[in-house]
Amino acid sequence: MSSNKRDYYEVLGVSKDASTNDIKLAYRRLARKFHPDVNKTDPNAKEKFIEIQEAYEVLSDDNKRRNYDRFGHSGVQIDMSDFFSGGIPGIDELFQSIFGEFSPFGGFNSFGGFGSRSRRRTAPRREVGQDIEDHVEISFEEAMFGVKKDVQIERYTPCDECEGTGAEDPSSVINCPECQGTGRIRKMTQSGFGTIIRESGCYTCNGTGQVIEKKCKVCDGSKVVPEKKTIHVSIPEGVENGVHLKVQGAGHVPSTNAIPGDLYLGIRITDNENFIRRGNDLYTPVNVDIVSAIIGGKITVPTLDYKEKKLTERELPIPAGTQPGTEFRVKNRGVSYIHGRGRGDQYVVVNIEIPKKISEKQKELLLKFQELNK
Ligand SMILES: [Zn+2]
Ligand SMILES: [Zn+2]
Repeated sequence: MSSNKRDYYEVLGVSKDASTNDIKLAYRRLARKFHPDVNKTDPNAKEKFIEIQEAYEVLSDDNKRRNYDRFGHSGVQIDMSDFFSGGIPGIDELFQSIFGEFSPFGGFNSFGGFGSRSRRRTAPRREVGQDIEDHVEISFEEAMFGVKKDVQIERYTPCDECEGTGAEDPSSVINCPECQGTGRIRKMTQSGFGTIIRESGCYTCNGTGQVIEKKCKVCDGSKVVPEKKTIHVSIPEGVENGVHLKVQGAGHVPSTNAIPGDLYLGIRITDNENFIRRGNDLYTPVNVDIVSAIIGGKITVPTLDYKEKKLTERELPIPAGTQPGTEFRVKNRGVSYIHGRGRGDQYVVVNIEIPKKISEKQKELLLKFQELNK
């Protein structure tokens, strides 16, 4: 033992005549402060924690404390290698074995090098089923006016035959022989300064405390069976491409009293060349012949009929002198707002068609036109 070790009382910040309880309280406070799971800022936290741990191992043990009081560091044999053999235990693990409690730090997932996450708690949480992700393809028209779709999904539900137990009959569910039905394995280790108890979830029964002797023939002990199910989905008008609709409870059901997972249904909308969507507005490119653009006329425009809930066409007057790229706004013929009332507008975008071939007669007239234009 090196002689430059700090005094154990000093490490824990207690007096020489501190009671066992004082030592416990001091240790708990310091362990919470310097446990590497908790303290991510102090680069020396780990060293300090180890020092605190060692001081506590000695001072919390009456025999060792007596020897330490009489002979100092040389009076106690310390071998921490066993304690730290699997890395520093998670703070929950540590406090559970020492105080029989869970710390409010680190959450339930910080079990250090022990890797047991299936710890039993006083209030068991209900199992939650996994979510399912799927997609459905709808037309532009269906997206604009809303549609009801039947979607086939495949999910897992508890096996009817064994009522989700996975066993051939109720008598073949027995207490786990490995953990005697507790779901926990306690490992006691003797070290130079006392007994260390480590607890972890039982691997044989996955912490449930029960194993199956004879498996159910239908689900082969897996407790669940695949189920094909038709889900009726109501897709709202104005839905956007790529969004996911959540259908609560349509996911996997891992056990009879579990909360089912959810279905996340991706929406894919097939393109419609007559309508380009930007937010809640629609852009419709329309060809206008050169004469109508110059002298005015009428064009036919694809649009939405919200009364009949279908795509339709309507006539739109074109004023004389319409320029290429002109946008005519048709109010309230855009996309319905998903949240709130109303809808966007439709913009008719003018493309003026220049004829590629004309007759001699047309050419003559155009040259005359050009003459008059001067
Ligand atoms: Zn077990
Ligand atoms: Zn079964």
